[in-house]
Amino acid sequence: MTYIKLPSFIICFFVLYASQLMAQSKQLSFADSTMLRGHFTQGGLVYGKTKPTNQVFFEQQAIRVSPEGDYLIAFHRDEASQVHLKIITPSGQVFLKTLAIEQRQYPIQRINGLAKDKVSPRKPAVLSRIKKERQQVAQARLRDDPRTDFLAPFIWPSIGPISGVYGSQRILNGQPRWPHFGVDIAAPKGSNVVAPAGGIISLAHPNMFFSGGTIILDHGHGLSSTFLHLSQLLVKVGDKVQQGDLIAKVGDTGRVTGAHLDWRMNLFKRRIDPQLLVEPMIEHFSTPQKNKAQKSTQYEK
Ligand SMILES: [Zn+2]
Repeated sequence: MTYIKLPSFIICFFVLYASQLMAQSKQLSFADSTMLRGHFTQGGLVYGKTKPTNQVFFEQQAIRVSPEGDYLIAFHRDEASQVHLKIITPSGQVFLKTLAIEQRQYPIQRINGLAKDKVSPRKPAVLSRIKKERQQVAQARLRDDPRTDFLAPFIWPSIGPISGVYGSQRILNGQPRWPHFGVDIAAPKGSNVVAPAGGIISLAHPNMFFSGGTIILDHGHGLSSTFLHLSQLLVKVGDKVQQGDLIAKVGDTGRVTGAHLDWRMNLFKRRIDPQLLVEPMIEHFSTPQKNKAQKSTQYEK
């Protein structure tokens, strides 16, 4: 999402600049054979490796460890500057680790021209619909599968200028609203949406009030991708997909002012920044089809 009609060179600059800021993936290792690699920053995801027989706790919560010793931890948009990891060995030895979390500054984004009833819905029927849909989404994100589809590097689900970033403070039609938790890709309506990593479809809803056509793809261990504003769903709940499989078409459904894909990622309730998991999209901005994609300027939810 962006301020209306940014020239494409500014978008390119922003993507380049943002990707430099975000490139700082780190690796830490500890004497007890625990390794951590990823983004130790608000909205970051970290891949852990330990002995499979160890128990892992993050901020007091037990974390699933795969038979190979893989596990995931993640940090909220507003995570504190220190978080705590605890490893307990089968013999009862306890290792405590304090992790320093980089604090981010988020931009403010103003979007005008959204339908009034989508910004401040009041009708009881609409409010109960919104509540029900939130519960469906929350339920899908509770899934905790032993699958480890998340271990393969992620790819972009769609290609186009980045028109909205994770964490930005939203002011919709002049009213402060929840921050934006996805990355918006301004691809034209009908463009392909592919699976950024393998997984199982845990939600496929043709038309939610705010997010329109919505898919949740579960990558295992509580890590999921959510795709918003879709015009067409090409999968159903329970479908197993591989990385790169076509799952949907970009659309302009729900609370939007134009077509785009909003890609969100969660580790259970923790909302993380998808852009930290993929390579910058830079090469696509030097290809001829970029002009076509950049003509659709729109922004949304
Ligand atoms: Zn968005």
